[in-house]
Amino acid sequence: MEYYSVDASGYSVKPRGVALPRSVGDVADVVRWAAQNRTPVTARGAGTGLAGGALGDGIILDTSRMDRVRYLDGVVSAGPGARLGAVARLLSGYGRILGPNPSVGPYCSVGGMVATNASGSLSLGYGSIIDNLESVTLVDGRGDVVELPSNRHYSDIISGICRRAGPFPDTTKNSCGYRLDAVPSPDMSHRVVAASEGTLGVVVGARLRTHPAPRRRALAVMRYADARSAAADCPRILECGPVSLEVVGPGIMEGYGGSCVLFAEFHDSVPERGGPDHADRVCGDVRRAAGVRPVMIREGIDRWLAGRNAALSRSLGMTGDRAPSIIEDATVPLERLPDLFDVIRELGERTGSTPVYYGHAGSGNIHVRTPADSRVTEWYLCEVMALGGTITGEHGDGMGRTGFVRRQYGEQNHMLFGLLKDAFDPHHILNPGKILPA
Ligand SMILES: Cc1cc2nc3c(=O)[nH]c(=O)nc-3n(C[C@H](O)[C@H](O)[C@H](O)COP(=O)(O)OP(=O)(O)OC[C@H]3O[C@@H](n4cnc5c(N)ncnc54)[C@H](O)[C@@H]3O)c2cc1C
Repeated sequence: MEYYSVDASGYSVKPRGVALPRSVGDVADVVRWAAQNRTPVTARGAGTGLAGGALGDGIILDTSRMDRVRYLDGVVSAGPGARLGAVARLLSGYGRILGPNPSVGPYCSVGGMVATNASGSLSLGYGSIIDNLESVTLVDGRGDVVELPSNRHYSDIISGICRRAGPFPDTTKNSCGYRLDAVPSPDMSHRVVAASEGTLGVVVGARLRTHPAPRRRALAVMRYADARSAAADCPRILECGPVSLEVVGPGIMEGYGGSCVLFAEFHDSVPERGGPDHADRVCGDVRRAAGVRPVMIREGIDRWLAGRNAALSRSLGMTGDRAPSIIEDATVPLERLPDLFDVIRELGERTGSTPVYYGHAGSGNIHVRTPADSRVTEWYLCEVMALGGTITGEHGDGMGRTGFVRRQYGEQNHMLFGLLKDAFDPHHILNPGKILPA
């Protein structure tokens, strides 16, 4: 039971019981029993979530045994417990990749990725989960199996609610609340399940679009004296067509001392970048676009990116156990990224520390780690909203941010979130306290 009391966040909640279903029928049985007995059910994939979304005090539904994966005609069909590593291995045999690539690597599950609308460094080229989801099957709060978008009844309800939605942040990534902005018509209704954090249904299967694997890759590495000037270069570098544009703040990368480092990765499979002289052309483009001269890496790119991906574990070492610490994944419109770095500097002044930061600069999505109490966290999230951003671009609301969802979206959208929840989960047994208050 201890294992299920924690995930990769700093939270801890002891559940009453654990179920390990092997089939969709098993999931439906558990949810039906829970609905009759008004017992909370929280779905769990691999427990790598950083917002405490997979923790609950009722039944934890561990989907790890539902891990089948199949590939057909550019689409991968996976059970909720299938790990990203298994999906990637299958796809490599077909010369394909999945776009979303959380930095945690092979460990996270398809169910968890759908439920958080996960993304990662490659979202510039290939989008987040919401952009790649073809269809999804879930068990709703009554224990009924629902396939979206083909279920007409639910699709009409979803699109009716989405039509009434007020403004959403103008960001390329967003995992806050329910994505009412992503459903322009009933045939896109499945997209509302992305980022729903197991509160509308337990995902029991998903079909995800895949992409041709690149044959040639190139990585431009750029070193800046400070984050603001790195951020100011990002829009021009984006015009060169990278599939990823990452930032690592001072002190994290070995050998880079106090510099801020940008990594821009280019794939020849993105059509306008094809051809044998791929890296040379990229180098010329980036040199013209960036304020500093790039170093081009053609071999051993994954070794360089491993340095970037180790940023979280290194940042844990740098901030030590001066709890409580925050890992934020706020995302702002790209033109406001320099301002977000000003906010992060002020965060340091308010906490008397040096915040550690890194993330997906090209998407305006920055992870920050610093010791902070709830007042400072609230101040930071409000600053992000004031910049037109979202309080979470990829990790979800979970236990840490649910209390800010109403402020993020205002009364109208929050009321619509409640209507959607009621439609899927009338007894509010599915992951209560996430996205909406319990
Ligand atoms: C070192 C590190 C780096 C990371 N880097 C990234 C990154 O770059 N990008 C990114 O997006 N994330 C990142 N993450 C966060 C995490 O890996 C992702 O959120 C991932 O998608 C979670 O998958 P999981 O299987 O571990 O989900 P869990 O942690 O088990 O669950 C996460 C949420 O999904 C819900 N859920 C799980 N399975 C289901 C299901 N079958 N049906 C309905 N709801 C379900 C849970 O209830 C919970 O709300 C990182 C985490 C770590 C530890």
